[in-house]
Amino acid sequence: MAKTGSLTINSENIFPIIKKWLYSDHDIFYRELVSNGCDAITKLKKLEVMGEWQKPEDVEFKITVTVDSNDKTITFTDNGLGMTMEEVDEYINQIAFSGAQDFLEKYKDKANEDQIIGHFGLGFYSAFMVADKVTIDTLSYREGAAPVHWESDGGTEYEMEEGDKTSFGTTIKLYLNEESLEFCNEYRAREVLEKYCSFMPVEIYLENSSAEPQYDTIEKDELTEKDTIIETIVEEAKTEEKENENGEKEVVEISPAREKYKILKRPVPENDIHPLWNKHPNECTEEEYKGFYRKVFHDYKEPLFWIHLNMDYPFNLKGILYFPKLNLNYDSLEGVIKLYNNQVFIADNIKEVIPEFLMLLKGVIDCPDLPLNVSRSALQNDGFVKKISDYITKKVADKLSGMFKTDRENYEKYWDDINPFIKFGCLKDEKFAEKMNDYIIFKNLEGKYFTLADCLEENKEKHENTVFYITDEKEQSQYINMFKQEGMDAVYMTQNIDSPFINFLEQKNENVKFLAINSDLSDSFKEEMTEEAREAMKGDADALTEVFKKALGNDKLEVKVEKLKNEAVSSMITVSEDSRRMQEMMKMYTMPGM
Ligand code: ADP
Ligand code: MG
Repeated sequence: MAKTGSLTINSENIFPIIKKWLYSDHDIFYRELVSNGCDAITKLKKLEVMGEWQKPEDVEFKITVTVDSNDKTITFTDNGLGMTMEEVDEYINQIAFSGAQDFLEKYKDKANEDQIIGHFGLGFYSAFMVADKVTIDTLSYREGAAPVHWESDGGTEYEMEEGDKTSFGTTIKLYLNEESLEFCNEYRAREVLEKYCSFMPVEIYLENSSAEPQYDTIEKDELTEKDTIIETIVEEAKTEEKENENGEKEVVEISPAREKYKILKRPVPENDIHPLWNKHPNECTEEEYKGFYRKVFHDYKEPLFWIHLNMDYPFNLKGILYFPKLNLNYDSLEGVIKLYNNQVFIADNIKEVIPEFLMLLKGVIDCPDLPLNVSRSALQNDGFVKKISDYITKKVADKLSGMFKTDRENYEKYWDDINPFIKFGCLKDEKFAEKMNDYIIFKNLEGKYFTLADCLEENKEKHENTVFYITDEKEQSQYINMFKQEGMDAVYMTQNIDSPFINFLEQKNENVKFLAINSDLSDSFKEEMTEEAREAMKGDADALTEVFKKALGNDKLEVKVEKLKNEAVSSMITVSEDSRRMQEMMKMYTMPGM
């Protein structure tokens, strides 16, 4: 019979791997240790709800991160459920044994797992990516539990003994290695906390024990019980000598004597435990959406509009997607979609989850159901992940088509900003293209917007099934004038994305032809020439051909000369539609992000 058993991990082999490969970003230990603290507090709150524990009046759940650049240490303190010695043995000493999973297993039916972040059972050990030595001091919430002190340098061997912690919870202290000292700098710490912990569900406070304490002076009525009074400042009453009605001098009080207090500067949490995406869309105000956008994306230009995603079934997904105002100077289409798992930041722009074209937007997505403990390639092939991605795409298309139908005015107003995004989406995502098909609009010479169907209908007489388009308003101003004079119309297609988008439109609408306004001249602009007139012009035409051949260094160049009807225009060069598209294609290859 075959022998069966469990595999054991040899820590000496796995450690170098964890340190090097588990996480590519060294700052991530902040996320792991703070989220462990959050988990510990969430678990304790659950025990309270379940009636297994009673919270003392004066306890406020929080996590404190203390940096000390003199000692070169960082300390993470939480007042969560703490650990007994057996638990430390089980959860910490057995690497990759996830206590979170054990907890869930135990309380499967009573607690809902939504809020528990850890899945990997390795997060704690990320501390060793930056620290030579790590200590844990913990006291379990259980009555009569003994405090535990644990320490390890390098992480392959540990010492564990009874400790001296007196309040329940856990304190983890990292003694940073020389390469990682940046992390005990207050500003760096704040930056990393902002990146990973901005929306974690427990208040996080950052303290700098190597800095001088900071003070505030406040009025008496502003004083709260939590303030630490350093000094009471007594301001004497202010008086003034005045003359009364009888011409006698009198002393009047202009402000009474009062007390002020010099207090230790009040700590403010680094995070927002109630991110806007968790609020019901009906309860969010425009100001809140804008404020959230400013805060998260540090973008002081207002977003055009946004979509609040809020779904419980068949999967859990919340988020807000903003359409940013484009910066046309740079023609940049760089958005960012921040992905969260239960309010813990995971990464920006995970392309396996978020459709590529949506990354031109700015937004946050929180999806607790995401299987993030699997590799990226597995994510890509995950049917569930695909569903999430399709859902997001559908929501975006719904919002846009809804706006087209019920708020056409704004849709047109935003079109110049949002069209590159929509076009890119159509090129990248068939389903999106399908949904947006009737809501693509084009701006004509008069600045009015038309759908393709309206556009064709409008110009049926003059140029059936042909859409003329402008690629560069300045360069083509002559042509534009000519078009106007001839009563013809053209649409603006002036952005990089328009060139591939035109190809796409032609493929979708087989009978429609797009022609650049400066391509092969439409017959309506040419003056009809007799054979003789053509003959007479031949000398000039040949001379011109020579000039162009020389200038372009191309012997095989063919130059066709036509006479223009319009006298206001002295001369113009046209480029055939095919060569222009070739040129555009060459340009595309050198364009980033295409
Ligand atoms: P994970 O969080 O994925 O379970 P970690 O390596 O981050 O893995 O943590 C391992 C286990 O150690 C946790 O599941 C938890 O049981 C325990 N643990 C870690 N940090 C704390 C803490 N601050 N308070 C209580 N228990 C903790
Ligand atoms: Mg963890």
